[in-house]
Amino acid sequence: MRRLWLAIALLTMWGHPLAAQDRVLTMLAELVNAPGAPGFEDSVRHLMVDYMKPMATRVTYDGIGSVIAQQGTTGPRIMVDAHMDELGGVVRRVTPAGFLSMQMLGGWFDQALVDQRWVIIGSKGPVHAVTGIRDIHVAAPEERTRVFPRESIFLDVGASSDAQVKAMGISPGDPVVPDAPFIVLNGTNNYLAKAWDDRIGCAVLIEVMRRLEHTSHANTIYYAATVQEEIGLRGGQTAASIVKPDIGIALEVGIVKDVPGVQAEEAQEVLGGGPGVFLYDASALPSRKLVAFVKETAAGASIPLQFDFITGYGEDGAAIQKTDGGAPIVNLVIPTRYTHAHNGIINRADFDRMVDLVTALVTKLDAPTVARLRDYAP
Ligand SMILES: [Zn+2]
Repeated sequence: MRRLWLAIALLTMWGHPLAAQDRVLTMLAELVNAPGAPGFEDSVRHLMVDYMKPMATRVTYDGIGSVIAQQGTTGPRIMVDAHMDELGGVVRRVTPAGFLSMQMLGGWFDQALVDQRWVIIGSKGPVHAVTGIRDIHVAAPEERTRVFPRESIFLDVGASSDAQVKAMGISPGDPVVPDAPFIVLNGTNNYLAKAWDDRIGCAVLIEVMRRLEHTSHANTIYYAATVQEEIGLRGGQTAASIVKPDIGIALEVGIVKDVPGVQAEEAQEVLGGGPGVFLYDASALPSRKLVAFVKETAAGASIPLQFDFITGYGEDGAAIQKTDGGAPIVNLVIPTRYTHAHNGIINRADFDRMVDLVTALVTKLDAPTVARLRDYAP
């Protein structure tokens, strides 16, 4: 599967002047183009292991498919986490006429589902599909502004019978992901793709590993690429139960305010404004001492920070925080426009600065600092 997605990634970058020399650009395209609905992260896992294994002291797995790559063997246990899964669905039912209903996985808007291209990963490989839309020529006037509920949505694979669908290698339970290949957005520093949530975090794991491969640090670092975050932080929980971290750092996407229609209290970040630090989300509160440590480290490295309070948001940090007696955590994010949709946008400078920040954090952490961060004695 990997070779196919690599080919697609390279095709979509054809003609881009950076493509030849920018290794990171190629890696980002590979990661976001790979299909990885929750519970079906195989292609992403394959990529992550390919990238991480040569730089790791060892690579292990939890029992549901998360990857844990380790660097170093002594010192405090620092868990750096990003999830591999993306929003998607599974095929639910095939009708006699050859249409497919879909069980959505993760937090979708109903209005994001119609008239989109999708890829179904069947037993014979990828199958292209489109979610149909009502034809305006037969729709009543009041339908023109209506949001169609997900129960009414179906996938069309071009088949005219259930037998033809079966012959394509599709059966109920097969994963479905958005079809929205990576592009550099019109020569800007902004990149358009599906699945930035949370492949951008996965990419940070890889780049921080690369920076620290030949750099000494005082910790055992566990880079956890987890599964099934979008349906309940499941891989974050299972991976953390193996790692038993002293400190947890979750890497995620941040929510921006710099698009039309966002109200003042809803979101705080702007694209290109630097890494974000969550001060609140619905699933976890960060350690105040750890946030102070992030601020101090960022200031020392001249990295700008943004701060987030998002109510409708959960992240793996919440699962890490509650494991094995508890660990101080912080959720660090790369500002992203249009998360949980087919087409999201990130800014390259935000990514590069996040790699700088996480590298600086894990380099600066040591046993006395971790002991101080974990000390609650009055
Ligand atoms: Zn996420």
